[in-house]
Amino acid sequence: MIEKGLLGGTCINWGCVPSKTLIHTALFAREAVLAGVRGVRFPSPEIDHAVLAGVRRKVVEELRRKKYLDILEALPGLTLLEGTARFVDRGSIDVDGRRIVSERILIATGGFPRVPRFPGLEEVDYLTSKTALLLEKFPPSLVIIGGGVVAVELGQMFHRLGTKVTILEHGPRILQGVEPEVAEELHRALVKEGVEIAVNINVCRLRKEGDVSVVDAQREGATVEFRGSRILVAVGTAPATAGIGLESAGVETDARGFVKVDNRMRTSAPGIWAAGDVTGGMMIATAGAREGVVAVDDMVDPECGCRIDYRTIPMAIFTDPEVASIGYGIRAAADAGIETVANTIPVTEVAKAHITGHTSGVVTIVAEKGTMRIIGVHLCAHRGADIINEAALAVRAGMTVDELAAVPHVYPSMGEALRVCAQGFTRDVTMLSCCAE
Ligand SMILES: Cc1cc2nc3c(=O)[nH]c(=O)nc-3n(C[C@H](O)[C@H](O)[C@H](O)COP(=O)(O)OP(=O)(O)OC[C@H]3O[C@@H](n4cnc5c(N)ncnc54)[C@H](O)[C@@H]3O)c2cc1C
Repeated sequence: MIEKGLLGGTCINWGCVPSKTLIHTALFAREAVLAGVRGVRFPSPEIDHAVLAGVRRKVVEELRRKKYLDILEALPGLTLLEGTARFVDRGSIDVDGRRIVSERILIATGGFPRVPRFPGLEEVDYLTSKTALLLEKFPPSLVIIGGGVVAVELGQMFHRLGTKVTILEHGPRILQGVEPEVAEELHRALVKEGVEIAVNINVCRLRKEGDVSVVDAQREGATVEFRGSRILVAVGTAPATAGIGLESAGVETDARGFVKVDNRMRTSAPGIWAAGDVTGGMMIATAGAREGVVAVDDMVDPECGCRIDYRTIPMAIFTDPEVASIGYGIRAAADAGIETVANTIPVTEVAKAHITGHTSGVVTIVAEKGTMRIIGVHLCAHRGADIINEAALAVRAGMTVDELAAVPHVYPSMGEALRVCAQGFTRDVTMLSCCAE
């Protein structure tokens, strides 16, 4: 294993772990507000930035040690080389002057935040997800260019911790990759909470006016400007392939520069596999790990029949309410030639939503027409990231809508949302009493 930076890569150091630590901390501030509405009042939250940054650092360092360094040390036969890897040819790699020869090589160099060359970019000392998560003190206001996962997760977190946030999305809606009803529900929840969102924004130029950073843009033909103390560019991930010598190894990339792989994670070069963000697949840690397993199983036994199947890997976006999904959406299924039947319920049909006051959200189940097997679940709900794991099980097991509807669920729990949605294929759930069979 060759690593040029910090062990643990993006996820531990400037991705999942620091972002979720801060997001969870920001939840306390929000819950204090919601508690006030229910008659338990706290003084308004004061943010101690030094403590916040210290906790974030501590969690990252602890997990890096416990889940990477300690495990690595305990694995016989695994050698960590610190240095920068570069292909010399298809079967050999240079690591800062040292030659490594191998019949099988896995590329797992990941990605980094993509930053388009907006005119004036260098003037404004912009942030990316990486630098934003390492801030020791949060800015009073923040303009986020992009309306994808990083923008909504970090946008809501900054807002809850006292920053005035404006999200600028190029397209007609945020989270273009998720089902429309789910994205719209989150949009409404974010705006209700006080995050400003502008869609159909074409960024023209960035500039500085004293201490203020300004985004000059066009919206449906009109000139508009957005002002903030800092600008965060969050428009996606670029593959980390520069300088690693893919050409010398004969490894092809796609039009966006990601390493091309087949469903066994084989690249175009025999003896070289790739996994993780560098392949431009689902670009989440769990998918990267699964891709790595498929690649290594295929290396060891090409007859194993191992294939990557993204339709059985759940994903979540850690906003509040959380967005989560697995499998086919209605459009994706139609593109794949699968006829579907779908049902959507608002989470207000679930008693627990009223009990906790987290009433924003929807759940959609997509089933294959005829067999009624569940092939996709898409939701926006409080605790959505937990709920989706059950949906993953249902998809993986090939359960039908009726089978899911027949499983009693704990009352009251947000997990009931799945069952109520399944029941809704055949019954009017607005007329069902709690726990109705
Ligand atoms: C803000 C943010 C939040 C996220 N939150 C989540 C989340 O909640 N859940 C989730 O599942 N996913 C999340 N992700 C995505 C997740 O972090 C990535 O999908 C995952 O880290 C990709 O893993 P990887 O191994 O492909 O790449 P990386 O984790 O980027 O690792 C690649 C490693 O390769 C090293 N490297 C690169 N080039 C070379 C070279 N030439 N020689 C030697 N070493 C090299 C790098 O230093 C790096 O350590 C988040 C990402 C971001 C940015």
